[in-house]
Amino acid sequence: MNDGIWADFNLVGRRFLRTVTLDLERSFGDLNESVLVTNPERTIVFANRAMERLLRVNRSDLVGSTTRRFFADPAQFDRMAELYHRPSDQRHRRLYPIEAVLGDGTNTHLEVVSAPLFGTSHELAGLLFIAHDVSDRKQLESQLSDVAVTLEDALDAILEGFAIYDSEDRLVICNDNYREIYATSAPAMFPGNRFEDVLRYGLKRNQYDTGGLDDETWLTQRLAKHQAADGAVIEQRLEDGRWLRVSEKRTSSGGIAGIRADITELKEAKALAEKAYQNLNLMADGISACVGEVNLEGRCLFLNKTGCEWFNGTREELLGTRLRERLPWKEREAVKGLFRAGMSGQKATMELGLHFPDGVFRECQMDCNPRLSDAGDVDGLVVLITDITDRKKTERTLAELYAITSTRELCHEGKIAEILRLGCDHFDVPYGIISQVIGAHYTITHAHSPGNKVAAGQTFDLKDTYCTLTLEADEPIATGHAADSDFAGHPCYELFGVETYIGAPLLVDGIVHGTVNFTAHKIRKRPFTPADIQIIRQFADWIGHEIARQRDHQALMDAKVNLERVASIDDLTEICNRRAFLERAQTEIQRFRRTRRPFTTVMLDIDKFKQINDQHGHAAGDECLKVFTRVIGDELRSVDIFGRVGGEEFCLVLPETGLDDAKNVCERLRNKVVQECQLDIVEQTVTCSMGLAQAVTEDVDFSTLMQRADAALYEAKTTGRNKCVAYRDHLDPASARAVTPH
Ligand code: GH3
Ligand code: MG
Ligand code: MG
Repeated sequence: MNDGIWADFNLVGRRFLRTVTLDLERSFGDLNESVLVTNPERTIVFANRAMERLLRVNRSDLVGSTTRRFFADPAQFDRMAELYHRPSDQRHRRLYPIEAVLGDGTNTHLEVVSAPLFGTSHELAGLLFIAHDVSDRKQLESQLSDVAVTLEDALDAILEGFAIYDSEDRLVICNDNYREIYATSAPAMFPGNRFEDVLRYGLKRNQYDTGGLDDETWLTQRLAKHQAADGAVIEQRLEDGRWLRVSEKRTSSGGIAGIRADITELKEAKALAEKAYQNLNLMADGISACVGEVNLEGRCLFLNKTGCEWFNGTREELLGTRLRERLPWKEREAVKGLFRAGMSGQKATMELGLHFPDGVFRECQMDCNPRLSDAGDVDGLVVLITDITDRKKTERTLAELYAITSTRELCHEGKIAEILRLGCDHFDVPYGIISQVIGAHYTITHAHSPGNKVAAGQTFDLKDTYCTLTLEADEPIATGHAADSDFAGHPCYELFGVETYIGAPLLVDGIVHGTVNFTAHKIRKRPFTPADIQIIRQFADWIGHEIARQRDHQALMDAKVNLERVASIDDLTEICNRRAFLERAQTEIQRFRRTRRPFTTVMLDIDKFKQINDQHGHAAGDECLKVFTRVIGDELRSVDIFGRVGGEEFCLVLPETGLDDAKNVCERLRNKVVQECQLDIVEQTVTCSMGLAQAVTEDVDFSTLMQRADAALYEAKTTGRNKCVAYRDHLDPASARAVTPH
């Protein structure tokens, strides 16, 4: 407003006090500002033309009336009386809005400036009003307010908390999310309130986790960041545990726009993800296989602990390099081929032997799994290399065990020896032993050892061997370093210094027989594996099975021998029966054919035997037969063959004996019978007759020989009995009784 007007007002005021008839017209009549002057009771004494136009009432109608008529709310007019007459307020110009009713009955918004006019003795002489029609501005304001509401609505649609502070750091606008996020300080979030006050309001009510800082320090730091408003993201923790992400930026008009997002879940998820990643790393480091990740160029992006060991370097040294270049050339080519297959998007697997930079050759299974980018392209490989050396070795050993146990080329003992050798190879130890345990005694039954230092038959106290532990455990046990295990202090260690031991109980037909064990004095480089335990279990099973089979076989052989004996011995006389005799005689014939050495066949028959039976009973006859065979048998050589070929008929084969010698033998036999084959119960003298036939060149058929001997016997019978008769050509075998072998 023009200060010049106010200078005029004061002038008017002074005149007004001097004279009631002021030349107001001259001063304000044609001013563009709408001017109205009242007395202290607000009765109009003057209105200029501009006012006339503004109020749409003739000036003549205005003068003398109060301004009350122009108040849309007459109560406002009354309230203002008090204002004008309050001495403390009288000295000031005032500005206030009025909703006015104009002369034509329309309403408008006026902004009125009032100033008191004082008389010479400083009493209130009147009031001067200058009025502006502000209806246009009001409309604009209302439009702006609509825009603000729309803006607020829009801001509320933003999921984040949003606030704008003006250049004096007073809140201009914020959305509901902002109030919700900082629910504690929401009451302080009214437009015009300073950012610092909003902060303090919340701080006082423990809204923030100050992280141990005192409130003022925290506030200073927070305000500094706020003032920097450089768009940097800060993470703010609230007392209730929530995390906010805050970003503030200065606007072109110097204000600060800030966005807050609740990232509690994000933080938690991130923490979980980090934990999971750590666990994954731990897991990767915990496994005995090599786990790695390579990019398209084959450069290593990740390698677990085992991988670092095998490739003989630290993570720092190995990451970013091509690991395959650390392998021998030939192996590198094979790996490259596998990588290529993986890069084509297919999972690729291969078994191959690799010489690793740590100096160890490992048989490996290598798996290449393509890693896909978000776009679905292969952008690398996850490579898993598993050491299958032990598995392969186990497979080979089991295959060999199968070959040994199933072959027909090895005997029982040969198979056991091979199993012990195989065990020594597999476990890489010098000694393989099978023991039999009876009570407290441990006896080696089979052994494989360098220079046969350990041999079957050696015995020990069971308690002095690790096998006592094996039998107590009732399952395979092993140590690769006895001194550093439960085996330490055992007598076996004290006595023999055995460091490496793997042993299993040996069961034969379900009963503990002993143990199978493999030992070395040296400490083992690699510990025994579960597969090794399975292997020795297999060995023990197969050896137990072999021993059982061997036992069965022996029992079978014994039974066979017994059966053969039973089948070839005559029950009553216990000499060869007819079948066995003929078999053995046949062998003699064959020998004769080869050697042409002479032998003689003799048929024997007890004289008048029927009579013995008839007179003394069959049992006496049987007894006579027994005595007879014993008397004859006692006189024979071990090479002579004596058999019962009929009821009381016997046959003799005398090898290496010509007819003359045979005659002497038979005479001796005949005399022995006369002398010794006498029974108390039998009254008659027991005698026998014999017929002899010598095998000559052409006589190669034993049945013919028997027939001839029988013919000679018949001659002896018919010519007096108790005599020996040799076969001669005139004796017709056909006339003899049918005593033919069959
Ligand atoms: P010879 O002097 O002519 O030989 O008269 P012999 O009575 O001995 O007549 P022969 O040799 O023909 O008689 C055989 C008799 O032997 C017939 C039979 O009853 C009897 N015999 C055969 N086997 C046995 C046997 O195992 N035990 C007994 N007690 N008698 C038997
Ligand atoms: Mg007879
Ligand atoms: Mg007879």
